Amino acid sequence: MFIIGILNLQGAVSEHYDITQKALENLNIDGEARLVRYADEVEDCDGIIISGGESTVIGKILFERGIDKVIKNNNIPVFGTCAGMILLSSKTDYDQPIMSLMDIEVGRNAFGRQKDSFEDTINILGYEYPGVFIRAPILKSYDDSKEDIEVLAEYDSKIVAIKQGKNLAMSFHPELTEDTRIHEYFINLIKN
Ligand code: GLN
Repeated sequence: MFIIGILNLQGAVSEHYDITQKALENLNIDGEARLVRYADEVEDCDGIIISGGESTVIGKILFERGIDKVIKNNNIPVFGTCAGMILLSSKTDYDQPIMSLMDIEVGRNAFGRQKDSFEDTINILGYEYPGVFIRAPILKSYDDSKEDIEVLAEYDSKIVAIKQGKNLAMSFHPELTEDTRIHEYFINLIKN
C-alpha cells in the first residue's frame, strides 16, 4: 500500500493528515495518510510531510530519533511546509538542526510576526491558490547549478515554493485550505 507519513512531532499535523487523505481519495489511490513519530514508522512510508510549527522543536526531536538518517538512507521524498521548508534547507539564519535535503537557503520569520500572518492569492502550477502565510520563512537563495531544482511559485518577488527532485518546500500552508491540489501534486510527484 502507498503510504504518506505525516510527521507527528509538533505543529499543524492533523490538517495535513486530513487533506492528504482527501487528496488520495480524489486521485483514487489505494493508500493512506499515516501519522508517524519514530524512525521505524517513517521507514515504511513512500513520502513524508513535515508540517508548519516550530522548526527548532521539530528538528531537535527528528534528529534525536534518527528520522533524518532513515529519510536519507531510503531516499524518502519529503514535502515541507513552512517549518518543514526550514528543515529541508541546507542553510538558515539561525543555529538549528536542519536536514540539508535541498540546496536552498532560508531566512526564518521573514514575513513578520504571528500577528502579521496573512492570506493572499499566489500563482502556482498554473493555477491560483490561496496562500496562507504564518511567520513564514523566505527562500534567500538556491543552487541554480543543480538541474533538478525548479522554482514553482513567487509572491511579492520572493520565491515561496520550490522543488528539487522529489522534495518539495513551500513557505505557506496548503494544509490550512480546502484545496487539495498541492497535496495531489506531491502524491503524483512521488508516485511517478
Ligand atoms: N517561524 C517558524 C519557524 O521558524 C515557522 C512558522 C510556521 O511553520 N508557521 O520554525
